[in-house]
Amino acid sequence: MTGDRQMFTTPYRPPTPPNGPSTCPRCRQPVIWCLTDTNRRAQPINPGRDATGTTAIRQDVTGRWRSRGLTRERPTPEGAEVLHIPHAATCPTPRPRKTPR
Ligand SMILES: [Zn+2]
Repeated sequence: MTGDRQMFTTPYRPPTPPNGPSTCPRCRQPVIWCLTDTNRRAQPINPGRDATGTTAIRQDVTGRWRSRGLTRERPTPEGAEVLHIPHAATCPTPRPRKTPR
């Protein structure tokens, strides 16, 4: 290979968020942690495929799970993307309250 390594020299990256199949820290249900395309935050996704879902997830070439919210411009899953439902929509455990008792 004629390597032009410039493209691979990335500056320091912050620690990788959880990624891939795991569990929800609040309800312990299985979820898939995906990196959002828009703001690069980890987002838990329900593992079951759901055609009514609004989030398309896929694994990129490095095996990292990525999620993409459907938009008006790109309203359907593309390539290897599969529709899922964000776990936040079904998590039975509400967000912890800020005020302890
Ligand atoms: Zn949960």
